[in-house]
Amino acid sequence: MAIAVEGVVRRYGSFTAVQDLSFAVDRGEIVGLIGPNGAGKTTTLRTLCGILKPTSGRIVIDGHDIGTAPLEAKRRLAFMPDEPHLFEYLTVEEHLRLTARLYAVSDFEARAAALVEELELSGKERSLPGELSRGMRQKVVIACGLVRDTAVLLFDEPLTGLDPIGIRRMRDTITRRAENGAAILLSSHLLHLVEEVCTRVIIMDRGRKIADGTVRELASRADLAAAGSSLEQVFLRVTGHDPTPAA
Ligand code: ATP
Repeated sequence: MAIAVEGVVRRYGSFTAVQDLSFAVDRGEIVGLIGPNGAGKTTTLRTLCGILKPTSGRIVIDGHDIGTAPLEAKRRLAFMPDEPHLFEYLTVEEHLRLTARLYAVSDFEARAAALVEELELSGKERSLPGELSRGMRQKVVIACGLVRDTAVLLFDEPLTGLDPIGIRRMRDTITRRAENGAAILLSSHLLHLVEEVCTRVIIMDRGRKIADGTVRELASRADLAAAGSSLEQVFLRVTGHDPTPAA
């Protein structure tokens, strides 16, 4: 498994944000991490990429334990946060160049040019973050994550803030990376897009995993199969917000 999470707990002081979380993501999979506000999605992603230390439990990235072999594990993952924090005085191209140098990417020029084209940043290579729209800044953050070729990609809300064409392109970008063998975990509140792009879904609520499977599996477990249910219906049912009770 490219991502293995075993019994992870993460507390902030006495508050438990993530409770006994276990799951795995294989190469080629796109797993959607969904849940109500405060469910623990961002905490989970930040713990997986090593920004936060788990209070207990184990995280293994492409065979490397992030607790005992943090450099090896981090080398194999890219985390794309939802807040596009960029360096004020570096252009788009300089951001890509800096990231590539930090991670010793050899074929930088070709990769950067392809990414700028793929993410529709052409013509903005020499722009500073202050001269970009929010959606464009988000694309720069994602381009910096993708300029390296990692086994594991972690996206926090990659589709929020993008226009409809940007959303479609980002979906294709994510799908292509999975087809090329990456293991992908992404959080989003855009359930219809999660349903389209993800091979499997994990639902969290109040720090706990409450469901894990394909939309079809979850619908059948939630007694919704007959209705040919959408992920939204499944979500409302398993989080206890569905006004129509299970049959
Ligand atoms: P959203 O959908 O709103 O982005 P989320 O599922 O990503 O939510 P988290 O940001 O992981 O949720 O937060 C989970 C819980 O942990 C929340 O109750 C939040 O208030 C709490 N929390 C997050 N960061 C901190 C922090 N630095 N200190 C204390 N509590 C925190």
